[in-house]
Amino acid sequence: MTLEGGPTIAIRERYDEVVSDRWPGFVRPQRDELLSSWVHRLAFANGIAPRSFGRVLGFSGGMWSPSLDMNFQTDAVNILRAHTGVPLPRLSAMSLKGSPLKRLLLPLRDDGSRRGPTWLQFCPQCLAEDGQPNFRKHWRLAIKISCSKHRCGLRDRCPFCRNRIAAFNQAALVPQHYCARCGFDLRLSSKVPVSPSARLLDQCIFDICKLEAMTGSLDRSSLVRRLLHSPGICSLDPATPLVNLSASARIRCMGRLAAQPNDWLTDDDDIAVSHCDGPFCWWEVSLH
Ligand SMILES: [Zn+2]
Ligand SMILES: [Zn+2]
Repeated sequence: MTLEGGPTIAIRERYDEVVSDRWPGFVRPQRDELLSSWVHRLAFANGIAPRSFGRVLGFSGGMWSPSLDMNFQTDAVNILRAHTGVPLPRLSAMSLKGSPLKRLLLPLRDDGSRRGPTWLQFCPQCLAEDGQPNFRKHWRLAIKISCSKHRCGLRDRCPFCRNRIAAFNQAALVPQHYCARCGFDLRLSSKVPVSPSARLLDQCIFDICKLEAMTGSLDRSSLVRRLLHSPGICSLDPATPLVNLSASARIRCMGRLAAQPNDWLTDDDDIAVSHCDGPFCWWEVSLH
């Protein structure tokens, strides 16, 4: 089309993309990133605080983004897919819906206690080294107590105000690595010490669980039950399952377990052996 005395205007092939419903801000999902973490970053990139962004996705409040991780609500997911172009399988892979490790996930509740479990942990140094600070899927697991890369314990609270990580409730336009309650930069949290033996046991248990999850045998084995009862096995807190302990209590638990024989992990008849390097190397693990 040519306007008199003006430029020639042509409809380009990609015109539909220019006028599509895509949101202007886009952030690429990172390796092992939790869906809620990516959504919080997406909100920030589009100039919307997470608490308000929940309403964009049809949520009315509460722990809306951790709920999205678990339940992968269809309406919200379709909005995300339509406005970002990230395909459903990729979004699903970031979620925890249908996770074989579901019984080992930290609980989604906030009773206000300063001592109980929280829903999410973090490694301050991982956040500090991230180009785009993000929360990992495996930080939702009660069996994870340490970061193998930085050889430190995971934290589950802001060290300044002792509150849980609640980016879903952030009303200000700040990145998710700032505490939603007090504004503390979580990347500046001090290092939590963990003994080498506890870190090794932590990594071995994580590897074994991943292996059993991959082979589909986790539901049929008693490994999860034994892990949940591990606070009683090490005489730390017999009445409390592992998922109901704070990060610091689980670090103590792992330290005690590392100092005792590992036969508590092996009470099945049908066993296979998984190898890890170090003093806890040979785990007999049920695969059936
Ligand atoms: Zn780390
Ligand atoms: Zn705080």
